[in-house]
Amino acid sequence: MTALPGSLPARPQAGESEPVTPALSTPGLLLKLYRPDLVRALEALDIPPYRYAQVLEHLLRHPDTPFSEATSLPTELRAALADLGHNTLETAAHAVAADGTTKFLCRTRDGHEVECVFMPYGRRATVCVSSQVGCPVGCVFCATGGLGFRRDLSAAEIVDQVRLAAVAAARTGHRLSNVVYMGMGEPLLNLPAVLASIRLLTYPRGVGLSHRALSVSTIGLPAGIRRLARAEPQVNLALSLHAATDELRRRLVPGRYCQPLAAVMAAARDHFALTHRKLLVEYVLLEGINDSPEDARNLARLLKGMVVTVNLLPWNPLPRSLLRDPGGTGRPDSARTAALRFAPSPLATVQTFAEILRRADIEAVMRRSKGAEIRAACGQLAADRGSYRARG
Ligand code: SAH
Ligand code: SF4
Repeated sequence: MTALPGSLPARPQAGESEPVTPALSTPGLLLKLYRPDLVRALEALDIPPYRYAQVLEHLLRHPDTPFSEATSLPTELRAALADLGHNTLETAAHAVAADGTTKFLCRTRDGHEVECVFMPYGRRATVCVSSQVGCPVGCVFCATGGLGFRRDLSAAEIVDQVRLAAVAAARTGHRLSNVVYMGMGEPLLNLPAVLASIRLLTYPRGVGLSHRALSVSTIGLPAGIRRLARAEPQVNLALSLHAATDELRRRLVPGRYCQPLAAVMAAARDHFALTHRKLLVEYVLLEGINDSPEDARNLARLLKGMVVTVNLLPWNPLPRSLLRDPGGTGRPDSARTAALRFAPSPLATVQTFAEILRRADIEAVMRRSKGAEIRAACGQLAADRGSYRARG
């Protein structure tokens, strides 16, 4: 088949197969998505393709074992890979709460810090991963939003948070069963790396998580929601609404990433039509801001007829240091300073809010606050290193 000059090569027809070099068979491709630096080293050494699968599986199945001790690999290969490192992150600090929730502050090779939270539930554990260093969305109630945006995380840096958590899970006898993209950053603004990390985490001969055990949380970017649905129709969607009118939502989510609610809800409906996954709506309750009976009725109207659970989140107050110096710029920020006056809604208010939703046939749950004393909410530790216990 020949392509016309200047045109794209024609797509293979049924029965034809794409030319695939042996090195780029599935584990090779996955390793390239994960650690392109390792693939370059393997290519330079002319290593046979089956070794790519071994390197990939070593990384995913033995997160605690450096290449120098990887007995499945030949000695020369161990030595060649050792300098490139078996992890793109190191644990800079961690904090453990009484309920076993453990928050890791992970340092990237270029010196950024992101958080990942390990949450045990019975014998299983969920890990909450970051997708960006900081976040460009800048929600006024969120510590990460106050840090500003530094850079996207790579697929490796996302997967390696799970690998660090897997080591913690093995030590405490838990099975790592779920991953939620609810840490620092907006995953749909870093979708290529997030999608690559999903492929890696669900690779059956690696960590082997089920797609249905993964949830991506977003502030609500319609194009990204539809792309996620098409690319990963079994992955769950969590939508951070926090308000049921555009006016109120714009106060909490300032700036260009606050999309009109009509467009966000249309994308959420399309997501369900494509995936049939129940939507999780996250709603952080702020006293006197978004927690009135009228706010609850507006939310019930907005969600009418949808297959949805509303998760009512208790707000974790922001570190005052962050409020005084948002994003470390030294400039005052009136929207964020307003968050100084925010308070979590009292329990009775939360219960009334939930009751109004339930009377409208909308499932509402009040999330237990896990690890509150270690400031386990998104971005809080990176903003407040004082609460850390140094490792080791
Ligand atoms: N950017 C994505 C995912 C990361 S934030 C999103 O916004 O959905 C994950 C969740 O933590 C969001 O629902 C967010 O509203 C919530 N969150 C952020 N700061 C919080 C705080 N201080 N207290 C309680 N929940 C918070
Ligand atoms: Fe970003 Fe999510 Fe925090 Fe908003 S709540 S600033 S979108 S991380």
